[in-house]
Amino acid sequence: ELDSISEKAASKGGGVDDGGSRILVFVRLRPISRKEREAGARCCVKIVDGRDVYLTEFATENDYLRLKRLRGRHFTFDASFPDTATQHDVYSTTTAELVEAVLQGRNGSVFCYGATGAGKTYTMLGTIENPGVMVLAIKDLFSKIRQRSFDGNHVVHLSYLEVYNETVRDLLSPGRPLVLREDKQGIVAAGLTQYRAYSTDEVMALLQQGNLNRTTEPTRCNETSSRSHAILQVVIEYHVKDSSNNIVSRVGKLSLIDLAGSERALATDQRTLRSLEGANINKSLLALSSCINALVEGKKHIPYRNSKLTQLLKDSLGGACNTVMIANISPSNLSFGETQNTLHWADRAKEIRTKAYDAHEEMQIPDSETDQAKLLLELQKENR
Ligand code: ADP
Ligand code: MG
Repeated sequence: ELDSISEKAASKGGGVDDGGSRILVFVRLRPISRKEREAGARCCVKIVDGRDVYLTEFATENDYLRLKRLRGRHFTFDASFPDTATQHDVYSTTTAELVEAVLQGRNGSVFCYGATGAGKTYTMLGTIENPGVMVLAIKDLFSKIRQRSFDGNHVVHLSYLEVYNETVRDLLSPGRPLVLREDKQGIVAAGLTQYRAYSTDEVMALLQQGNLNRTTEPTRCNETSSRSHAILQVVIEYHVKDSSNNIVSRVGKLSLIDLAGSERALATDQRTLRSLEGANINKSLLALSSCINALVEGKKHIPYRNSKLTQLLKDSLGGACNTVMIANISPSNLSFGETQNTLHWADRAKEIRTKAYDAHEEMQIPDSETDQAKLLLELQKENR
């Protein structure tokens, strides 16, 4: 019975999940770089049929059947993008449906993760010529709002923030660190800039400027620190009439996250997790691993409080949220270990169950179904 209720809850999530209500996991392979080529690197990753990823190092490239039998050499994802995929391919497959859901008042989040240099920032922010998911999502959002002549009703606010070394900073208005507070909407960063956006044109410049405000390592002052997480939050507020003809406001939130470099920090089991905790790696990334593990194992208690990143993303992981992960990988055999680690972690993330549902609809379940509604609310609470 519980199953059928959670199924019902999941189906109310709309077209975003594939009926199984879990996180969608994608892989994107970047082209080999000149630097890698000059270092004598060979390509050790093959993407087949837009889904399968084969690690071909130490094996004949075409011997897929053999690779399938080798542990950790073959993975399958919701979609896998070869190095020829365009920014638009990646956006439309991974994020376009989330934008649609967010316009209907739900929350959604997209994470990019992978080792430093694997293509996370390229995928999220991109360049002027080839804007990434953040910019394409906002562009799509505005065009959808215009198409439906929602103008004036839909208000879009952007916030762009960084978590570095357990300090939260406003990337749109750099200054003193922000304090996280709990209020009725959840965890909020006090004083965070909410930039009201009216069009796409201003957004790329805004985000690029924001990215320049990310923390850099003192020794390599032009390069964003591999330990910096960037979170763009797009909040859409609009008004609708409820069943008693009262005007009520609805809010949808899209979080787009460019995670810190995952090298050595993403533990896929408890033992590795513990051994990493001693080393001062990246508390927020470790906490994210812990939360993912707890979600995968269906634990009741999800340790969101363990880091700033997971506190900020509490409503964007599991729970009432549609979540997308994009694992970025390099094709180079010199990064074989990192790539395998990233793919292994992505493979694990596939198992997360989320309960996507429309909170507004659930509140309007008729009295005759009160018991079901109660159960549903309990389930939802457990998953928050
Ligand atoms: P990360 O943010 O994961 O550290 P970057 O996104 O900065 O990595 O990518 C490293 C380098 O590779 C950058 O110079 C970037 O422009 C380039 N790059 C990454 N992905 C692609 C891609 N899909 N196509 C072309 N260049 C890419
Ligand atoms: Mg980066």
